[in-house]
Amino acid sequence: MTPPVVLAIAATDSGGGAGLAADLTTFAALGVHGTCVVTAVTAQDTTAVHAVHPIPLDVVAAQLDAVLRDLKPTVIKTGMLAGADVARLVAERCAGFTLVVDPVLRASTGRPLADAELVEAYRDHLIPVATVITPNTEEFVALGRPDHPGAVLTRGGNIPTENDHGTGCTFASALAAHLALGADLTQATERAHDFVAHQLTLGRDWGLGSGRGPVAHISTNSMTLNAHSMTDV
Ligand code: PLP
Repeated sequence: MTPPVVLAIAATDSGGGAGLAADLTTFAALGVHGTCVVTAVTAQDTTAVHAVHPIPLDVVAAQLDAVLRDLKPTVIKTGMLAGADVARLVAERCAGFTLVVDPVLRASTGRPLADAELVEAYRDHLIPVATVITPNTEEFVALGRPDHPGAVLTRGGNIPTENDHGTGCTFASALAAHLALGADLTQATERAHDFVAHQLTLGRDWGLGSGRGPVAHISTNSMTLNAHSMTDV
């Protein structure tokens, strides 16, 4: 059967932990077809964001138009948008869709990923057309504690682990995938929490990089299949 299509509008993370790597792998794990609009390329690893290269607005718009026109996603999820102009564009073109807005304001390693103008664009343009928003506590406060009917406040996982880079993106993408699969907001939130908890447990003892490692983006099945070629898992 043809799977539902979900669109992630976000940035790349060269370390494979957060951003589009998290979004697309989560979509695949949950059985929806993932499409993507790249807003920025980041050079980063488990220790820091070393560089950010925003994609020009017309190229972001062209990606968005192509996906909306041909692939017809039913659910759209936003992550790092990299600029207020992108947030306004997304608000304009994606209003009316089931829209999951994960307001990414800062990398887990510390670097700010949004300026004051982008925070304002979230508040004035994007959040008002969102179906659900998934800020963590710091983002919720920075956004002026938005009074949104579909606000799902995210906390750090309850699983003690150093390997949690990309947890926010993974949660919001799992939520988007479950909405696309027909769950209501309450069910989708519960299932997304369960998925993230499972992935955090899976990667708890991994030793990827020298900083905070990525949340696991592979599935239990692929781990079993590849067990003979893995070490230290
Ligand atoms: N998107 C990108 C491209 C990032 O680099 C980051 C953090 O570094 C995030 C999103 C947010 O990551 P997290 O899911 O860890 O909050």
